[in-house]
Amino acid sequence: METKRSEIAVTVNGTRYGWPSQPVVVVCIDGGDPAYLRQALACGVVPNIDRFIETGFGAVADASMPSFTCPNNMSIITGTPTSAHGISGNYYLDTATGEAVVMTGPELLRGETILAGFARAGARVASITAKDKLRRQLGKGLDLSRGSVCFSSERAAQCTVEENGIADVRDLVGMSQPDIYSPELSLFVLEAGIRLLERDRPDLMYLSLTDWVQHKFAPEEKEAMAFYAAIDACFGRLAELHAVVALTADHGMSDKSNEAGRPRVIWLQDILDACFGKGETTVICPITDAFLLQHGALGGFVRVWCRGKTPASAILALVRGIEGVDLALDKEAACRLFDMPPDREGDVEVVSQPGWCIGAAEADHDLSGLVGHRLRSHGGLSEAKVPFILSHALNRDYRRKAASGVLRSYRIFDYAINGTRG
Ligand code: ZN
Ligand code: ZN
Repeated sequence: METKRSEIAVTVNGTRYGWPSQPVVVVCIDGGDPAYLRQALACGVVPNIDRFIETGFGAVADASMPSFTCPNNMSIITGTPTSAHGISGNYYLDTATGEAVVMTGPELLRGETILAGFARAGARVASITAKDKLRRQLGKGLDLSRGSVCFSSERAAQCTVEENGIADVRDLVGMSQPDIYSPELSLFVLEAGIRLLERDRPDLMYLSLTDWVQHKFAPEEKEAMAFYAAIDACFGRLAELHAVVALTADHGMSDKSNEAGRPRVIWLQDILDACFGKGETTVICPITDAFLLQHGALGGFVRVWCRGKTPASAILALVRGIEGVDLALDKEAACRLFDMPPDREGDVEVVSQPGWCIGAAEADHDLSGLVGHRLRSHGGLSEAKVPFILSHALNRDYRRKAASGVLRSYRIFDYAINGTRG
């Protein structure tokens, strides 16, 4: 006897997902700090989100630490904390070679993605990201031979059926190739999602934006509100196409400049070198990526590896006294507190206060891209609160769940799929 699709369940990384009765679209608003949403709701520029919160569900959830793009996108797409999926930043130090290793390869991602699990069970899925650096991990194990797609707006022009499951993305979307430093890079993702939903009606979609707007503009600035109005209109169109729309963010965003408009930076490698000597420690800034003009590789979280005789305890004693440091923890405490993977952690983790960021050696950071605007960045605990919004109301089980424990952003697929079923 044939099993009805509605009776199929898919288990991914220990979580059981029922078969969605209507398309489910999860959107990661990169850098979507709750402060932007508060401002946008107060200004009345996001009527669709307003309605979702009113008739569906709206809360603020905890993101994974460190509050960076890669760890949180992987948490959302696998439904697990970083301790399970292993992506702890954009870079970690390979202690065998002493080299910083980029962490965007799918081979470093542990476990399966929810999209790959559903595609394996016969679903049509779509993964669209603004930044190509995320694409290969989001597409890990994803079978593209049966109508599923995985592409980035950054490389929209280079899409092929073989690599992405789709070609001619610009034609589909009706937009030209957007610049990587533009709001259009995100809007392209949403437009593509809308067109695919109209054309193919995928069962599951993941749309991941970029935080260019939030790095550049504070919530009070008109450019930020124009962006929110534009993405809200897209959310409305997705809902009109009878999708369950779920909104979250990978992390928030804080102003990290002083009164003069200059970045307030702790140059940690310089401080450690001056105290313990060169070569004793290596500071890795896990925010480092190709989008340097946005943040100068300065974020609210860094890792320190002991490379000589200096013990972690001596580093902790020094670092805890530095102005602007929020928390300094050894590996064991950090992994316990933040549920992070020990084999990719440094010996010491340092988190900055909201108004501060942490760099390595001043000479190694290019801040030329920041001239003329205040540094806004993320990585710390102060940027680990994110919106958690659903267009549909929760069922009784999930209402209870939401009310009785800490809400984690990596549960958004679970809530959107299982929590909105009658
Ligand atoms: Zn991000
Ligand atoms: Zn960012």
